[in-house]
Amino acid sequence: MIKVEDLRKTYRAGLVEVPALRGVSFEVERGEYVAIVGPSGSGKSTLMHLLGCLDVPSGGRYMLDGVEVSTLGEDELARVRNRKIGFVFQGFHLLPRLTALENVELPLVYRGVDANTRREKAVRALEMVGLGARVQHYPNELSGGEQQRVAIARAMVGEPILLLADEPTGNLDSRTGAEVLDLFQRINDAGCTVVMVTHDMTAASRAKRLLKIRDGVLEGDERV
Ligand code: ADP
Repeated sequence: MIKVEDLRKTYRAGLVEVPALRGVSFEVERGEYVAIVGPSGSGKSTLMHLLGCLDVPSGGRYMLDGVEVSTLGEDELARVRNRKIGFVFQGFHLLPRLTALENVELPLVYRGVDANTRREKAVRALEMVGLGARVQHYPNELSGGEQQRVAIARAMVGEPILLLADEPTGNLDSRTGAEVLDLFQRINDAGCTVVMVTHDMTAASRAKRLLKIRDGVLEGDERV
């Protein structure tokens, strides 16, 4: 489902070029659960941004679900992100002035889904993460773990084929982090491919495959 070939990303910081990814190749099949691990500065976030179509590579190829995304323009990339990918970030990234329900509805708003269907699907997604009783709460009225569960509902409401998570347990205590990982497990059991960047070895140990990155290259690929 994911195929990257010799993927490269070089950032320019003033006159200096920073090679963040220096030729990474791997494939991920549908239904896999992959953790990307490696020391700070090794290129994990860069790889995540490329896989999420949030940035474009400097070189190499990226095929997602049979589409060569490395050549798409901004509008087409936005469409791929909206249709195929759910995102979960360390800092939750919920909109503070919207309720939990409205936050979860957003991806469907962008997709042009009618209001009733949107509401129904968003309520169902919030029930799936155990927040059926919190739909009218604003993010600042929710705990960190609850906010992350809202973010997971938002990621999943559009039924993506890929869930991408960047340090999803990074801001959570271990018990709350475990709840988030349990949800990821259920989402993966239901057939969604999960790719997660993490420093947290407890989180990484829940995945079925570890991709190890160091200095912008793939150093290891282990199936657990
Ligand atoms: P990780 O997520 O593993 O910590 P990153 O992908 O964030 O690593 O960064 C890889 C390298 O690229 C680092 O050396 C970092 O300083 C550099 N880098 C990341 N983003 C930028 C940017 N926007 N501009 C310049 N350099 C960057």
